[in-house]
Amino acid sequence: MTTRRLILLLGDQLDADSSALSDADAALDVVVMIEAQEESTHVRSHKIRTALFLSAMRHFAQELRERGLVVHYRGLDGCNDLSLAAGLKAAIAQLQPQEVIGVEPGDLRVRDQLQAAVPKGLPLRWRADTHFACSLPRFAQWAGESRQLRMEFFYRHMRKEHGILMEGSQPAGGQWNYDADNRRSFGKAGPKNLPQPTRFEPDRITKEVLALVANRYADHPGDLTKFHWPVNRAQALKALDDFIEHRLPLFGAHQDAMWTGMTWGWHALLSSALNLKLLNPLEVVRAAERAWRERGLELSSVEGFIRQVLGWREFMRGVYFLDMPGLKAANHFKHQRPLPGWYWSGQTRMNCMRQCIGQTLEHGYSHHIQRLMVTGMFGVLAQIEPQQLCDWYLAVYVDAVEWVELPNTAGMALFATGPRFTSKPYVASGAYIDKMSNYCKGCAYDPKRRTGDTACPMTTLYWHFLKGHETELAGNPRTALMVKNLQRIEADEMAAIEEHAQSLLANLERL
Ligand SMILES: Cc1cc2nc3c(=O)[nH]c(=O)nc-3n(C[C@H](O)[C@H](O)[C@H](O)COP(=O)(O)OP(=O)(O)OC[C@H]3O[C@@H](n4cnc5c(N)ncnc54)[C@H](O)[C@@H]3O)c2cc1C
Ligand code: SF4
Repeated sequence: MTTRRLILLLGDQLDADSSALSDADAALDVVVMIEAQEESTHVRSHKIRTALFLSAMRHFAQELRERGLVVHYRGLDGCNDLSLAAGLKAAIAQLQPQEVIGVEPGDLRVRDQLQAAVPKGLPLRWRADTHFACSLPRFAQWAGESRQLRMEFFYRHMRKEHGILMEGSQPAGGQWNYDADNRRSFGKAGPKNLPQPTRFEPDRITKEVLALVANRYADHPGDLTKFHWPVNRAQALKALDDFIEHRLPLFGAHQDAMWTGMTWGWHALLSSALNLKLLNPLEVVRAAERAWRERGLELSSVEGFIRQVLGWREFMRGVYFLDMPGLKAANHFKHQRPLPGWYWSGQTRMNCMRQCIGQTLEHGYSHHIQRLMVTGMFGVLAQIEPQQLCDWYLAVYVDAVEWVELPNTAGMALFATGPRFTSKPYVASGAYIDKMSNYCKGCAYDPKRRTGDTACPMTTLYWHFLKGHETELAGNPRTALMVKNLQRIEADEMAAIEEHAQSLLANLERL
């Protein structure tokens, strides 16, 4: 039998309605899926992240076969392809297709590698990724018409375009953004009635994958006994229902709060299912909107959640494709320090970092503020080279795919792109972490102290950062107040802060 089309599906393209499958013919076409060694090793991928991708791919291949399609599946334990390119070359040699088609990859490294693997003369056609609410040409058009790349304005377009949380031409409730009502701390008492998210017990396919990953990637971070993520569409839909029912009502209020031992809080835990394309973003935001209309949930909570999915997630993807490849090399502050080794062990006396890195290494998950205002913020304050921290984020989170990881890390957390698409660097002293968590209570350092052995490194390095970038930050209305506070510090104390900061920077491994 000759093959008309080789339909290549990548590990994060598990969309039953994929544009690559829309006209697939089981008599003529073969779907090719490849588990490649390099995808788990080009950054030292967390064991749970690797297991999630492989298990979800194997479940999807099974579903495609049940749909009657022919699947050529190149498993790590059978074919041992070192790279996606090697796997694609082998599949082409075996199937001799007349053309290769696929959905545009969400990682330009992968796209370039695959393009180079297709022999000259054999057509390769990328189809648009229809999973997203905003196509790439639509985003580029919006960006071209906008004075500034700002998520808030893009989000309003998305709300209008898709009729989400709208009352006629006006936003529901009269405001676009209800963040002022969200983002509370737990107070001294801590979280009450913590919800327990639905967990998915590994089935036969997942158990096989867990054994494979445990064996092959024994020295990678992660604890496979903690694996519980949804691996197919049916489970992803259950995870969505579970969130809407039990956690969305308080999502907004607790979205930024952190607490020792609290891993999941009221978060959605849907990013991996969304990024694997097991869920569609519009079905997710519509489910949230329905819960507001039918169950009377707080608008602030529902709007806050919808903004994350319809606003931030779509915006970050647009920015990635607009700004690559420059985004990958961006380094606005010219930071060059190496990533401390304890990012891979969690062994630091800074309790906030120990807690956030610890839960990340254990589960492959931490929430947005832990990523932005703890592990990310330390990266800016400690002058870590952005690319090293980007590789860490890409390795350790279950939801990490470059189109969403890179703009979040380089652009948002590290301000490596300057004010291109975020209006200010996200920096604060230890006082912010003390307000939003109980981490400081169990810490060797004191968030209020700026100098001395027990001074909080976040605090000392925060003032040092402001001093080092005083002119730039004074000229930005969103950071000008920080500089005013800096200028209130007496010269003697500032000199002591600077001296202490230099000693911290020279000894980052020992913090
Ligand atoms: C430094 C850094 C790196 C990040 N890397 C990733 C990544 O690799 N993959 C990833 O999916 N998200 C990433 N994020 C965004 C965010 O932290 C995660 O989407 C979120 O923590 C996932 O958990 P959740 O599903 O419980 O999300 P929730 O907090 O409950 O939010 C709901 C959903 O909104 C979407 N969302 C929220 N914030 C963002 C955002 N800033 N960008 C894109 N989508 C968003 C996600 O799909 C998420 O599932 C990163 C954020 C930072 C600051
Ligand atoms: S004192 Fe500083 S280092 Fe310790 S937990 Fe608080 S913010 Fe983190």
